[in-house]
Amino acid sequence: MEIKRFENKVWLSSPSMHGEELKYIQEAFDTNWLSTVGANINESERLVSEKIGCKDAVALSSGTAALHLSMKLAGERLYGQPKAGHGALEGKRVFCTDMTFDATVNPVAYEGGEAVFIDTEYDTWNMDPKALEKAFEIYPEVKLVVVAHLYGTPGKVDEIRAICDKHGALIVEDAAESFGATYKGKQTGLFGDYSIISFNGNKIITGSSGGMFLTNNLEDAHKVRKWSTQARENAPWYQHEELGYNYRMSNIIAGIIRGQLPHLDEHIAQKKAIYQRYKEGFKDLPIQMNPIDFENSEPNYWLSCMTINKEAMCKQVRGEQEVLYIPEKGKCCPTQILEELVKYNAEGRPIWKPMHMQPIYRMNPFITVNGSGRARSNAYIDEGTVMDVSADIFQRGLCLPSDNKMTAEDQEIVIEIIKRCFD
Ligand SMILES: *Cc1c(COP(=O)(O)O)cnc(C)c1O
Repeated sequence: MEIKRFENKVWLSSPSMHGEELKYIQEAFDTNWLSTVGANINESERLVSEKIGCKDAVALSSGTAALHLSMKLAGERLYGQPKAGHGALEGKRVFCTDMTFDATVNPVAYEGGEAVFIDTEYDTWNMDPKALEKAFEIYPEVKLVVVAHLYGTPGKVDEIRAICDKHGALIVEDAAESFGATYKGKQTGLFGDYSIISFNGNKIITGSSGGMFLTNNLEDAHKVRKWSTQARENAPWYQHEELGYNYRMSNIIAGIIRGQLPHLDEHIAQKKAIYQRYKEGFKDLPIQMNPIDFENSEPNYWLSCMTINKEAMCKQVRGEQEVLYIPEKGKCCPTQILEELVKYNAEGRPIWKPMHMQPIYRMNPFITVNGSGRARSNAYIDEGTVMDVSADIFQRGLCLPSDNKMTAEDQEIVIEIIKRCFD
């Protein structure tokens, strides 16, 4: 069979609009609420808190902003109000998911904290509870842990919660990628002392941008609303006692989100079908799909991912900005697959490069189950290199085209393109 280049690009994950979004944007125009106040904001907050099952949700300009204010809340609760010009986590270590997008961890640095990265486990590709336990042995003073649910798959929530409780540590839960996913029947976004979701353009539903802070603590919700609107005091003039931010969501953005929310479950069903078709299509290849703990969780299947089995990997070497590989019969590597997909006008992506391998965080501690450790070399990895789990998944894995507008026929072609990489 001859494979033709896709006429329309097959995306990794692009926005899927339904029409109601425009109606709510129009409503904002008609009522002249072109502001960070308005019915779309109120209604989106209500719908999200209802979906998640939390007492309140605060609409913000981004998931990153929600994470930042979470770090600030956590820092002030743990260490008191910082002096003017100082961060709420200044000089404090914070345990963080290692294999995630950098927006999970940057807010720790915004507040002056030092991220300590915790290695990944193979069962769900999230923070390894055993490595976390090890980290508390090494740094018993730590009181804050930031956990993400990568690619929409919940991590080992109960285990991590138990360890944090034992050590008196708080959790910031980054559910940016997992909106709609559940763990033991409860929505992600309910497990942190502070939790967030994102409505960035490539997420499961989107406002083009935006995020929310989720909480059962109405006092925290009040603080986040206040901080996000320049921390104005209740006075006839602009009165300020605290540092403020311009982090509130626009009523236009909220209109898009309001129109998208009724379609969340439909998007999840489409993404799940994509995952299942890949799993079926790849069953005779030496590859694994991203793992799911079906006993405890139902992911939102935001991105379908895969790893190539070790014995089927051709040699692939990554520097900081470039990559080389040596093609080999019957073997393959993520770079080769990604290049093939590009040739046919389809978009995949490498696994999120782990934080401990990022130049910006090179000097931060990194903890594996064996204690403090790093891959012996980040720049050169071959069969002889002892790798941490994050580095191993990064080396052998990739994110597959997971757009919910990709047809089953398109996906069959994507599967065929990947099969041929192993010829
Ligand atoms: C997208 C994302 C964020 C940031 O959300 P924004 O709304 O883009 O600021 C944070 N963490 C993870 C894991 C993400 O994927």
